[in-house]
Amino acid sequence: MKPINQTVEHLKPSGIRKYFDLASSMEGVISLGVGEPDFDTPWHICNAAVESFHEGKTHYTANRGLLTLRQEIARYSKERFGLDYDPEKEIVVTVGGSEGVDLAFRTLINPGDEVIVLDPNYVAYEPAILMAGGKPVYITLSQENDFKLLPEDLARAITPKTKAIMLNFPSNPTGGTMSREDYAKLVPILKESEIYIISDEIYAELTFDGEFVSPASFDEIKDQVIIINGFSKAFAMTGWRLGYLLSSAPLSKMMTKVHQFIIMSAPTAAQIAAIEALENGIPDILTMRKEYEQRRNLICARLNRMGLKTNVPKGTFYVFPNITSTGLSSDEFCVQLLESKKVAVVPGTAFGEHGEGHVRMSYATSLDNIKEAMNRLEEFLTELELKRQAELNASVDEIAKEVVILAEEI
Ligand code: PMP
Repeated sequence: MKPINQTVEHLKPSGIRKYFDLASSMEGVISLGVGEPDFDTPWHICNAAVESFHEGKTHYTANRGLLTLRQEIARYSKERFGLDYDPEKEIVVTVGGSEGVDLAFRTLINPGDEVIVLDPNYVAYEPAILMAGGKPVYITLSQENDFKLLPEDLARAITPKTKAIMLNFPSNPTGGTMSREDYAKLVPILKESEIYIISDEIYAELTFDGEFVSPASFDEIKDQVIIINGFSKAFAMTGWRLGYLLSSAPLSKMMTKVHQFIIMSAPTAAQIAAIEALENGIPDILTMRKEYEQRRNLICARLNRMGLKTNVPKGTFYVFPNITSTGLSSDEFCVQLLESKKVAVVPGTAFGEHGEGHVRMSYATSLDNIKEAMNRLEEFLTELELKRQAELNASVDEIAKEVVILAEEI
């Protein structure tokens, strides 16, 4: 048979799946591996879709999505984040934030263009860049700098071939965020370079400390920014597959062209549910966020007390503890923890080379599950330490024996 597309053939499978497959073959596993809310979609949102079926709203919508939904998105973005977008020309409703990632890259990239990606980063960016013919170029983020993007690193990474930078704050997997002051230092560099800024803001509503800031709130660079957002995380609507893109009118027009040919229009019932979410779902966001925050406080306190250095994330539902003190690699840590204590977490390396030394834990699970997982983790670390001590003692005994033999020979 003839070879298939070489880029697709060489894509690496997601490093997260392996652990899900292993975990799902075992009984009694507590998973801190999942990347989606444990809450079900609030019923009033589901009900809006149910009612739409009774009303026969089972047809395509406009390519960009229902105008009412776009108007609601515009109102919501203005009220919540101070962002101004025209519902007629600057908003496209997509099949999840995931389609947004694909549309942005397909629309911007010419073969060989470089796209700056932060390492560690969300798993879907690199494949999307490669499939669009681009070349990912990495900037390493460090725990010491709270996983923020620094201006000197940005300036160093930009070349004449750079087309865009992919940002995601609050970040999956690190939970890192960027403040207004952090972004202000990047703005002159971004403006001068004229590169596009793709900002995945899917966790914007899950910002616990301080305000959420979008790079598009800086007027100087607003036209360079494409915002990806959606309903999955904020409203616990992962299965509805609904997101949206906010950008300048010319970019929005081009992305709508791609969307029109590959999707036509996002699912109609999901769009109707999303209108209800934006009109009446803000209290739901606040309730869920409060619960996530409580869990975050618990998990971070426990991890740090166990000696796994963990930055307290200002957003998302992930923590990214440093596990180097165990002497294990990220992969060894995850496999051994799963096999011996039945707790599933994801190795940092699933999110990039510089995720080594970390694991990602999701706290999108109940407080009881988190407590039990932390108890098991504590046992795991104690046993690991005992094993290390025993090995150390054994090698000391070994050396002592050799010294005796040597002494006797002398
Ligand atoms: N971006 C990030 C950073 C994510 O974590 C996810 C989901 N895990 C997505 C995008 C995709 O979200 P959606 O369900 O809207 O496609």
